[in-house]
Amino acid sequence: MSKRYQVLARKYRPKTFRDVVAQDAAVTTLKNAIRFDKIAHAYLFCGSRGVGKTTLARLFAKALNCQSLTAEFEPCNQCPSCQEISSGQSLDVIEIDGASNRGIDDIRQINETVGYAPSKGRYKIYIIDEVHMLTKEAFNALLKTLEEPPEQAKFFFATTEAHKVLPTIISRCQRFDLARIPASLIAAKLGEIAIDLNRTVEKEALELIAAFSEGSLRDAESLFDQILCFSEETITAAIVRQTLGLAPRELFNSLDQAFSSCHLPYAFELVEQLLQTGKDLAHFLEQLIEYYRNVVLHKSKTYTQAQALHILDLLIAAESGFQKSAYQRIALESILLQIIRSKNRIPIEVLVRHLTENADKINLPPAEPTKPIEAPIVVEAPKPALPPPIVVEAPKPVKPVEAPIIVEAPKPAPPPAVEAPKPVVEAPPVLKTVPFNPYSVRQEEVKEPPKPSQVTQKPQSHYDTIIRFAAVEFEGTVKN
Ligand SMILES: [Zn+2]
Repeated sequence: MSKRYQVLARKYRPKTFRDVVAQDAAVTTLKNAIRFDKIAHAYLFCGSRGVGKTTLARLFAKALNCQSLTAEFEPCNQCPSCQEISSGQSLDVIEIDGASNRGIDDIRQINETVGYAPSKGRYKIYIIDEVHMLTKEAFNALLKTLEEPPEQAKFFFATTEAHKVLPTIISRCQRFDLARIPASLIAAKLGEIAIDLNRTVEKEALELIAAFSEGSLRDAESLFDQILCFSEETITAAIVRQTLGLAPRELFNSLDQAFSSCHLPYAFELVEQLLQTGKDLAHFLEQLIEYYRNVVLHKSKTYTQAQALHILDLLIAAESGFQKSAYQRIALESILLQIIRSKNRIPIEVLVRHLTENADKINLPPAEPTKPIEAPIVVEAPKPALPPPIVVEAPKPVKPVEAPIIVEAPKPAPPPAVEAPKPVVEAPPVLKTVPFNPYSVRQEEVKEPPKPSQVTQKPQSHYDTIIRFAAVEFEGTVKN
């Protein structure tokens, strides 16, 4: 075993266009350029990290200079030119890292050598990686060369930030925007590598790595490398989760169950478990988002599409401030409580439709109390931690009728109970405990329908506070 260990990303770097994962359009265009011998002076490969920008540039350079191109316009990988390029020793293909050679002097050197004939191949090719990092002076010097390039000189640029490249440069390039690589293709590629290395890896493990790499094959390969070193045995999904610091699958399954049975205490148990196993709560929140994104994408027996979308909305709204929050634990508990109780949430469109359909009844001047509207509103309240009755502000009293709603004053000063006029439609008593999601009922939305009882309008902020207090109190009962 004299051969030095090679990292996977390098070892399995594509040697032919056929090996390139996912970038079919770019590959076809480049091959056609060779086929019809229409080679532009400059190419710009854009895309996020690890999608194959420099890989394509190198392959293209190899193919252009190959001395015995195959029938499919692939580089032969055998001829002296191919071998020199593969080992990074070619005098005709010069790779420059724009991040570390970004000054005007570096570009001047290019400009000085660009006129010399290639030594072995047909072209002298400059591959400038991270080209957006060049200084303005360097860009301008480069531009001069690009305006009147010698016939045999070609420039291949790669960048993760195309918007930082001067428009005058971009306009002189043929541009490829390389998309992120789909997770399924990354997983498939990792699968091939596993077979080649004679290693057994669970399919789910490959999928986890692929998903975690967010479209970067290079990241996926590095990660895979690391995980393969972790154990000689079969690589399981559990090992991958552990290595990536992902929450175990069971946590999500239990959350689904808690949702189904509206079991609120699980919110606190889950967070406790995360903290005890040293998990980062912000990271867990990201995983929750990913999890519910998958629920929305693949549908689920546990959640309706509307429920899953609502939960996803909740999570995304919560995520923005979470990282900086000083109360991550409480915030996460609150989010989980909202997720679990959203099982009984009435979708706003149902509510609005209901109110609209009954608008005429609601507009009638106070008369005989009518039958309570058959209500999709009647929802069983979650057992524990009932919020105290909703604080209702009395609209300017007209004719107070019987059956008052008990109103609690928020501050000690005003009288403790006020008689509110009875709303026209008798609210079923359960209404008070309906888990209106305070986050989902926006005020404008509620204001829309003509004069509903004001139950849902004012108390929002109070309600919010109540939920939070209830949550904190509740936590005590769970612990004991
Ligand atoms: Zn060759």
